Amino acid sequence: MKILIIEDEKRLARLLKQGLEEQGFVVDLACNGTEGQYQAEQYPYDTLLLDLMLPEVDGLTILKGLREKGNAVPVLIVTARGDVEDRIRGLNLGADDYLAKPFDLEELIARLRALIRRSRGQSSPLITVGDLTIDSNSRTVTRAEKRLSLSAREYDLLHYLALNSGRVISRTELIEHIYASDYEWDSNSMLVRLHHVFESQKRLVADASHELKTPLAVITTQCDVTLLSERRSEEYVETIKSIRSETKNITHLVNDLLSLARLDAGLISASRYEPVYIRDLVAYAVRLTAPLAAEREICVTTDSDDDLQMSCVRTALEEALLNLVENGIRYNHAGGKVIISTTINECRELVIEVRDGGNGIGSADLERIFERFYRAATSRSSNGSGLGLSIVKAIIEGHDGRITVVSNAGEGSCFTIVLPKSIVTSRLTHLSETPAGQMHAP
Ligand code: ADP
Repeated sequence: MKILIIEDEKRLARLLKQGLEEQGFVVDLACNGTEGQYQAEQYPYDTLLLDLMLPEVDGLTILKGLREKGNAVPVLIVTARGDVEDRIRGLNLGADDYLAKPFDLEELIARLRALIRRSRGQSSPLITVGDLTIDSNSRTVTRAEKRLSLSAREYDLLHYLALNSGRVISRTELIEHIYASDYEWDSNSMLVRLHHVFESQKRLVADASHELKTPLAVITTQCDVTLLSERRSEEYVETIKSIRSETKNITHLVNDLLSLARLDAGLISASRYEPVYIRDLVAYAVRLTAPLAAEREICVTTDSDDDLQMSCVRTALEEALLNLVENGIRYNHAGGKVIISTTINECRELVIEVRDGGNGIGSADLERIFERFYRAATSRSSNGSGLGLSIVKAIIEGHDGRITVVSNAGEGSCFTIVLPKSIVTSRLTHLSETPAGQMHAP
């Protein structure tokens, strides 16, 4: 939502601009009456914040001029002039609300939002369009009760479209309302990104229902076929075994979907961070994968610094590492190796590597490997859900980290997690006293 502040007290104007921008408004400033009058008449704003005592042209004259020209932009008068007469004059001239200086910024923002809503015929902060609900107070969007993850600009764009739903909005109008007048934007890429957010959500629901329905269909059909006629007891045992195996796949998938839903709902937040020894994380992954490693004759070795401690959402980091080690074992050949190592790099970030000498990933698959439900061509028939790596990525990015992979078909893979230095809570102190070249953990 775009606001013009007409205020000659420059420090106050700048502070207001900053405060409003932090709340997602787009703000233009005019520091005298002439400039303010020109901008208000030239550009379409969602609200004007108008001081009354201005050099050159005063606030009431600006307001009168706008209304005489039929400009209905909502106007909130903000002034140090406290007398009732001024307020009445302002409101009679067509102002929509009035706030005396000094004012409370939160109140100002609440009033601005209410003014904008009312000017669009909305009385509630919740805007609903189909299955889309936009909460303009918390700036959050849900679709079919699922929270969408949008950037500030994507939110602004969607909010504006929703406020004007049913009306065709031109690109120019969008630009004018969601960007400051001096901003250059690429409307195409913004719309394309928004489209991708919707598409990926639609795809996730479609893929999830497809992946769940397939094993359920197998179970149902198997039961129907088995019940068609009398069978030998061994055949019943076979059917039960097959149902057991399909149920295992469904359980795996449902667990992964729940993990993703928890991540989407904001599982990772600094308030849930706790101190964790990296060696404990590694030990957890090794312990839980030991049966699988034994079954597949894979040797898992570790190379990590015993002293390293970090602050993170422990269960999430455990899950991420477990996923990578499990993959290293599963997509490997008998007698193969998986190596987990942790180091601090020269930027003092924490680096966790999971390296295997197994199947590797072909270049065509590599670029899509972190997508939800993506399985490489060689493993499409495996029991995996194709969600593991997207969960790992969401966990790492939730901790402000990044994950990359280097791999060649037939030569193995190396997944590298880099977590910000702010996350490492011990050993950095004494590392900082040692020369830069010695900063790598063993
Ligand atoms: P899945 O549950 O299918 O394993 P992931 O998201 O964990 O799902 O992995 C996606 C795909 O990436 C897997 O199906 C597999 O093809 C490939 N992959 C993942 N890790 C490795 C690895 N260490 N080596 C080879 N291929 C891998």
